[in-house]
Order: sequence, then structure tokens, then C-alpha cells
Amino acid sequence: MQYEGVLTKMQTEIGNPIQYYLIFENSFLNVNQLLGKELEITFQGYQCLNCNKKKKIFRQGFCYDCFMGSASAGDWIMKPELSTAHLDIEDRDLVYEKKVQLQPHIVYLALSSEVKVGVTRGSQVPTRWIDQGAVQAIPIVEVPNRYLAGITEVALKNHYADKTNWQKMLKNEVPAADLIKERASLKYLIPKEVQEYFDINKNDLCELQYPVLQYPKKVASLNLDKSPNFSGKLSGIKGQYLIFEDGTVFNIRTFEGYVVKISL
Ligand SMILES: [Zn+2]
Repeated sequence: MQYEGVLTKMQTEIGNPIQYYLIFENSFLNVNQLLGKELEITFQGYQCLNCNKKKKIFRQGFCYDCFMGSASAGDWIMKPELSTAHLDIEDRDLVYEKKVQLQPHIVYLALSSEVKVGVTRGSQVPTRWIDQGAVQAIPIVEVPNRYLAGITEVALKNHYADKTNWQKMLKNEVPAADLIKERASLKYLIPKEVQEYFDINKNDLCELQYPVLQYPKKVASLNLDKSPNFSGKLSGIKGQYLIFEDGTVFNIRTFEGYVVKISL
């Protein structure tokens, strides 16, 4: 069997375990069904997710020009506190920015490699947590726009990590933590403008189960630019990573916009 097309991040479906899908133009693949099987990944070229041209991918699946110009790659994406649509101030495209920024956002704690703080649109829960490989997550506040979420995250960043250590996450080296207790203890850190959205009594801890047969002891990333052809036996899926028996891990996210052939 062969599947061919542009890589985009895997679609997920919550379940026990989580289900993962690779979606191509004319076909899709339930990746869970490949567990324990050999597969081969071959790099074939680039296709920008924004302009569809066969240009080298710069970041987030976009070619350089699209990344620098597209409204969906502004600085406020990675730094929510820079959001300005609530003030009617444009970054690259105010209509787009209003649509994305002026909707409910969640600030959360997630346990991936340690307890980390993050921001996501309400509609992206629990997708965002799955993509990070969190084993547990809990919302801290839900606020009406991206700016308020951003300033809350900034206030909490001094006390929590804001990045996942992907090696630890993939090796499942996760410390014990009580996120409900943790959330209750951080109310005083939340900015004044956001205090009204904090509800200590909510019980909405989310636990996530990944399809992994065996966690690796050591991990090494597959880089399609350097190794355009790779074969291995799939031993797990966590976050947006495929984990192979020999410890090779393939971050689908990093290679969005790459055209690949997957042979089973
Ligand atoms: Zn492009």
C-alpha cells in the first residue's frame, strides 16, 4: 500500500487511546493501525500550505514569502500578549485577526514533560493538548479574547515552563503532579483584568492516553532534508510524533508542507 501527498499535522480523535489520522488529498490513513508494522517514508518535494507552490518550506508549512506575509503567521500567534485586534489595531490583516483573536481563549496547565502553561483557542481543546503530548491538562481560565489569555500566560511564565521538553515527553519521563491543586494555588498570580474569569470549583481535568506499544529509551529526530528515505517499525504515536522501534522519532509538525510517499 502507498500513500502520497503533502504532510499536514495529524488529525486526532479523543479516545482510549487517541486516534491519529494522516489526511492526504485523495486518501487518509488511520495511523494507529500501523502500530507494530514496518513503514517507509520517502521525501519527494515541497508544497507550501498557503500558496501551493513547490517552494522550500521555511516554517509552519509555509514558504518564506508566505510566512513573512501571511496574516496567519503574525507575531501574535506565538506571542498572544501582542494581540491588538481588541483595540481595533491591525498587524497584517485586521479582519482575519479579529476573527481569530476575538473568540474564547483558554489558558491552561498541561503535564507533558513538566507542568507547563499555555494558551489556545477554546475550539482547539483538547486538540492542542494532544498535539503537545500532554498526559493531563486543565483549563485555568477561559477569557473572551487572545490578548487577555496572553497577559495571563506571561504572568504565569515566571512560575511554570512554557515549552515542552520533547525528548522527555517522548520517553514518557513525566513527573507526578496534581494539576487541580496546582491551579488552586496560582489564583494570586493571575492579572487583575482576568480574575473575574477564574473559577476554582470547576473539575475539568482532562487525561489523555496515547497509542504507544513501547516508549524509547533514547530518541533521535528524523530530518527529511538530511535523510530523505527512512524505514522503521512504528512503536507509538504521541503529540505529533511518530515513534519508531529504533528510537527514531518523526515530528510531523516540523515537516508540514513536505510531499512524502508512505509505503506499507
Ligand atoms: Zn507559499
